[in-house]
Amino acid sequence: MTQGTISDRLAILADAAKYDASCASSGTTKRHSRDGKGIGSTQGMGICHAYAPDGRCISLLKILLTNHCIFDCHYCVNRKSSNVRRARFTPQEVVALTLSFYRRNYIEGLFLSSGIVKSSSHTMEQLIEVARTLREAHGFRGYIHLKTIPEADPALVRQAGLWADRVSINVELPTAAGLARLAPDKNGQRIEGAIADIGDAITEAKDARKRFRHAPRFAPAGQSTQMIVGADSANDREIIGRANALYDRFRLRRVYYSAFSPIPDASAVLPLRRPPLMREHRLYQSDWLVRFYGFSTGEVQQAADEQGMLPLDIDPKLAWALKYRDGFPVDINRAPRELLLRVPGLGTRAVTAILHARRHHRLRLDDLARLTRAVARLRPFIIAADWRPTALTDRIDLRARIAPPRQMELFG
Ligand code: SF4
Repeated sequence: MTQGTISDRLAILADAAKYDASCASSGTTKRHSRDGKGIGSTQGMGICHAYAPDGRCISLLKILLTNHCIFDCHYCVNRKSSNVRRARFTPQEVVALTLSFYRRNYIEGLFLSSGIVKSSSHTMEQLIEVARTLREAHGFRGYIHLKTIPEADPALVRQAGLWADRVSINVELPTAAGLARLAPDKNGQRIEGAIADIGDAITEAKDARKRFRHAPRFAPAGQSTQMIVGADSANDREIIGRANALYDRFRLRRVYYSAFSPIPDASAVLPLRRPPLMREHRLYQSDWLVRFYGFSTGEVQQAADEQGMLPLDIDPKLAWALKYRDGFPVDINRAPRELLLRVPGLGTRAVTAILHARRHHRLRLDDLARLTRAVARLRPFIIAADWRPTALTDRIDLRARIAPPRQMELFG
C-alpha cells in the first residue's frame, strides 16, 4: 500500500472514485453558516466539478477512504485481484481535506466511498467516523453523501443516515444472474434488504419530525443507487424494469446509470468494449419519462426495439410516439397537461408555458417556436391554430424525416 504524501494518495483515491456516477447533491435540506455557527452550506455555489475524458461528472472531493478491497468484483478497478496502486486515508485525514477544500471554496461537500478493509462493518465504522467528526467536532453544514458498504451491520448503516445528507448502496447490476457472475462476493438479497432498511429509517424519521420538531433527521436527501450498464447482457428493457421496480419498492431518490468502462487488467468475463455513452443518456431520458412525464414503465419499455434496446439516434419519447401514432396529433390549444407532456420535443417547462399562454389566445406555430426550439420535430404530432399535419403523422418515412442524421461516435 502507498504510504505517500497526502496529495499522492489523493490522486489515487480521487481517481479510484471516478467510476461512481452518483454525484448530484440536489434535494437535501437547506443549511448554511451565515449566522457564524459552523462551516459550510448546502446551497452555496463553488463546487469544483471536473469531467473525466468519458464525460462523467467528478467532484474534486469525491474520494475513497481506501481502494484496498477484500472483494473481487470483476468490473471494479479496485478489486482484490487488480494490480493497481493502493492507498488509504485515515478518517482524520479525510476530515482535514474536506475542511481545507471547503474553506478554499473548491467543493460544496463530500462524497465518500471505500473499498472494504478488514470487514464491511469495520469499513462502515470508518466512513461514519468521518461524517460524525465533520458534523459534531467541526459543525460542518455542507453536503455529505456516504456510500454504504455491502454486508455492513444494518445498525451501522442506520447510523450513517444520521450524519449524511444522502446514503446510497449500489445494486451494481440489473439482474441477479449478472450480480452472481460479476460480483460473486455480493449478495443481491442483502443489498436490497439494506436499501429497504434505509428506506424505512427515512420514513420513520420523517414521521417523527412531523410530531417532534427536534427529532433527528435521517438522510434528508434520500437514498440512491447505481447500476452498471453494458457489463452484462441485460438489455434496456430489463434495466428500465429493474430501475422502476426499485423506485416503486424503495422510494429511491435516484437510480444512476454508469456505462461500463473497460478497466486495466480486466477480467476475461467482461466485454472488451464499453457500451456507447449515448446508451446511458437514453436510459436517463427513459427514467425522466416515468418520473416527470407521466409515462408508465411498460410504455417506456415499449419504446425499445425487438432486442429490447432503446434507439440511440432518437430519444425514447420520440421512439414511443413513432410507434403509437394513433395518440397523435395533440391539439396544443385544448389538450390537458398529461397529453402535452407526451408530445416529442415538449419539455415540462414548455408545457407549462403553453398552458399559461393559451389562456390569452389560441397558439399558432410561431408561438410554439418561441417556447421550444424543436418545432420541426413537433409538427407531425400537434395541431395548432394555423396547423394540422393531415397525412404527415402517418407517413412511413416519418422517422427518417425527423430523426437527426446519424453521426459516428467520436470516442466509440
Ligand atoms: S466491493 Fe466495491 S470496491 Fe470492492 S471490488 Fe466490489 S465494487 Fe470494488
